[in-house]
Amino acid sequence: MTDHTHADTLRTPIVAVLGHVDHGKTSLLDTIRGSAVSEGEAGAITQHIGATDIPLDTISGMAGELIDPSDFDLPGLLFIDTPGHHSFSTLRARGGALADIAVLVVDVNDGFQPQTEEAIDILRRTGTPFVVAANKVDTTPGWNPQDGEPIQKSMDAQSERAKSMLDENLYEIIGQLSDAGFSADLYWRVQDFQKNIGVVPLSALTGEGVPDLLTVLMGLSQRFMKEEMAIDVQGPGEGTVLEVKDERGFGATVDTVVYDGVIRNGDQIVVGGQNEPIVTEVRALLRPRPLAEIRTEKEFEKVGEIGAAAGVKIAAPDLDQAMAGAPVRVVRDRTVDEVVEEVKAELAEIEVDTAENGVVVKADTLGSLEAMANALREAEVPILRAEVGDIAPRDIAVAETANQDEHKAILGFNVDLLQNAESDLENADVKLFKNEVIYQLVEDYERYVEEKQRAQQ
Ligand code: GDP
Repeated sequence: MTDHTHADTLRTPIVAVLGHVDHGKTSLLDTIRGSAVSEGEAGAITQHIGATDIPLDTISGMAGELIDPSDFDLPGLLFIDTPGHHSFSTLRARGGALADIAVLVVDVNDGFQPQTEEAIDILRRTGTPFVVAANKVDTTPGWNPQDGEPIQKSMDAQSERAKSMLDENLYEIIGQLSDAGFSADLYWRVQDFQKNIGVVPLSALTGEGVPDLLTVLMGLSQRFMKEEMAIDVQGPGEGTVLEVKDERGFGATVDTVVYDGVIRNGDQIVVGGQNEPIVTEVRALLRPRPLAEIRTEKEFEKVGEIGAAAGVKIAAPDLDQAMAGAPVRVVRDRTVDEVVEEVKAELAEIEVDTAENGVVVKADTLGSLEAMANALREAEVPILRAEVGDIAPRDIAVAETANQDEHKAILGFNVDLLQNAESDLENADVKLFKNEVIYQLVEDYERYVEEKQRAQQ
């Protein structure tokens, strides 16, 4: 029987940060975490495990007059710590994206770049609402930094020349968004954030405009996502694996974002594994200690339970085969078999069309494997086999069976060549491509095929 007494509590919206390399994703996350720390929320901000919780109090402290906390009943925002669309696509829940909202970071001087386009495609495909952080406004010639101030206040303090240069860059980005099919405007001119994308000019370096970004994210969630945030807090916990990590004293652990229900110590859980679902029992739920305490105490504190939405490290036997991007489910009110079937069904949703002939694809997470498969489909590159994990001797053997030379190739996204596969690769007629950027990986392979074809003519 399900306990409905705690039903319909609102959980924290989950926010992911995407954008082109070097446009400032990491800096923005650091600034958000950092200003939250200086807001004095000791204990709230911790060394991160996958996600950082910024409570509403902290946001309203940072946003000052921009926000009236009594307008909100959502508890705050949960930022996924790893930036990039690769981690975003890892966050899957039932075939869609797990992140509720995204921040698309665009360097105000650099505008749209290949990974900006990639990120937009992913956001469109998953139907994820987003706001654009037009970053690095402080690099505008003649800019007079106004640390941590709301952006309009900061803009008032700039010279006419700086303002008009910034305006020009901002309108360029708004135009590029429009070319990509999104109607967008500066956030203070947007009436309906469901129809229009808000652009927030900011600087991750000086913190100008960051209060505005948090305010817009909070407003967007409060107005349009309340229904999706209603969860049964006491229901069986559901989450997604962000990362599988060895932790001293605990063995293999999984950093997990719990987006529904509650996980308790001792719970039986099912976790998506590389070969089959792993059925195990929670030995410890770990949260990092507040930064200030880390030097004097052990890094983690054990907690009895964790409710959504939150990041937690789960220690349990047999997690070494767990996969990033895979579901985590607590077995409660149902049989283990039912939950195992559910996890299998969710994993089966990740569709990769394989052909009899094609390349071998390896990626570090299910989400990135799916993104790779999409990119290769668009480039009309057939796939013989696609799997999560590092490149093993078996992959080389499989790639060698391809009957066209150009298909004797392995494309590895964010993975390593295992040591015991090194000599196999040397002795095999197989070409290995490795990269951490999907479009570059595909481009490298396409260039190789062209060269091969030219050599044959
Ligand atoms: P990521 O690859 O998107 O995570 O980008 P990073 O956060 O690593 O930033 C790339 C570079 O841009 C670093 O050298 C940052 O210090 C710099 N940077 C990021 N944000 C800003 C900003 O707002 N202003 C300035 N001047 N530099 C920035």
